[in-house]
Amino acid sequence: MADTTLMSIPGQVDPVPVARDITPREDGRVDLIGLPKDRIRELFEEAGLDQKQAKLRAKQVFHWLYHRGVTDFEAMTDIAKTMRPWLAERFFIGRPDVVEAQHSTDGTRKWLLRTSDGHEFEMVFIPDADRGTLCVSSQVGCTLNCRFCHTGTMRLVRNLTPGEIVGQVMLARDALGEWPKGNMKFDFGADLDVEEDSAEYTSDGRLLTNIVMMGMGEPLYNFDNVKGALKLVMDGDGLALSKRRITLSTSGVVPMMDRCGEEIGVNLAVSLHAVTKEIRDEIVPLNKKYGIEELLEACAAYPGASNARRITFEYVMLKDKNDTDEHARELVRLIKHYKLPAKVNLIPFNPWPGATYECSTPERVKRFSEIVFEHGISAPVRTPRGRDIDAACGQLKTAAEKKSRAQRDREAAEAAQS
Ligand code: SAH
Ligand code: SF4
Repeated sequence: MADTTLMSIPGQVDPVPVARDITPREDGRVDLIGLPKDRIRELFEEAGLDQKQAKLRAKQVFHWLYHRGVTDFEAMTDIAKTMRPWLAERFFIGRPDVVEAQHSTDGTRKWLLRTSDGHEFEMVFIPDADRGTLCVSSQVGCTLNCRFCHTGTMRLVRNLTPGEIVGQVMLARDALGEWPKGNMKFDFGADLDVEEDSAEYTSDGRLLTNIVMMGMGEPLYNFDNVKGALKLVMDGDGLALSKRRITLSTSGVVPMMDRCGEEIGVNLAVSLHAVTKEIRDEIVPLNKKYGIEELLEACAAYPGASNARRITFEYVMLKDKNDTDEHARELVRLIKHYKLPAKVNLIPFNPWPGATYECSTPERVKRFSEIVFEHGISAPVRTPRGRDIDAACGQLKTAAEKKSRAQRDREAAEAAQS
């Protein structure tokens, strides 16, 4: 069952925080994925273990869940054989359901996933020569309606839970076969299987090396759940990915940016996309609430930003909208004015059916990039990936949502009849 309630779409800019609590599944068991070690310990105590036992078991189980990726209590070889069924009766190790997995000709992979209460969302894996990036969703849909973004047109919006967010990374590791084997360093007593797991784990040659919170949704409108999930990803005894390899992208939720730096500490990407109020108001309506100056001041104050850890400014190239030489020069001026340790990422607009914009010409994108670069700011053009499977930036919108209204009505009528 869901452990959040549905969000109604709350107008363009106001998020609706959704309290999370643990809701047992229909079979009464509690899904442990998404929970931190302390919460697991509390649950073990509530289920009847004494304090010391609960603490030890929570430590062991946590390691098996998040570091080793096991999905069956029977595989937890340092836990007594008699204890394993006790755990399995009460607890569960979940993953989002995979509805469909697609492979692009360029190696990009996209998964359509489903929450336990039936909402669909997507994640994308983008392999490169020297890295592999997982693009993770934070919400089903998005409340913000940026005019060039397909996700922003989705009708249903619900925050993903910490388990559904970290579950994406875990599922990717499952699919890529990348869980470390490693040795357990616990004191093994009698009644335990200790022979397996002798292979040492190294991170060399891993496929999944980076995470970007750039899938569906606005991560800073689901702050607590994103934070909870990323803590598990960054925990050395959890998924153990460095905060330097994680980037959170925001459309500019200014009041949450400082907390993002302080409490999560990951790299920041900001979807700027325009340098004048008039244009940004149009294409990123959140700008009416938090304007460009406020946004750039928050960037200048972002905890942890430095020349070694620059803030990425994303800039989608829209023909005859935001792509002139003057816009490029104004972008440079703003970055210098606010003394921002910045790099710019130019994103060719990825069209979708019904979109009202076109992508700038390649010559225009090149010229824009050169102007920014001539002023000493790196401004690479992002190569669109996975276009043949609709996996490129801003194209994420689930298959169900892509169906026409007529088709949905037809299906609903058929379902009602049967
Ligand atoms: N909500 C967050 C993160 C998800 S969007 C944000 O807006 O930053 C990830 C990136 O894709 C953003 O920079 C977004 O502006 C960009 N994007 C959205 N639609 C796009 C499209 N159709 N073509 C290219 N980039 C797009
Ligand atoms: Fe939401 Fe980001 Fe798309 Fe804007 S660009 S609608 S904030 S997902």
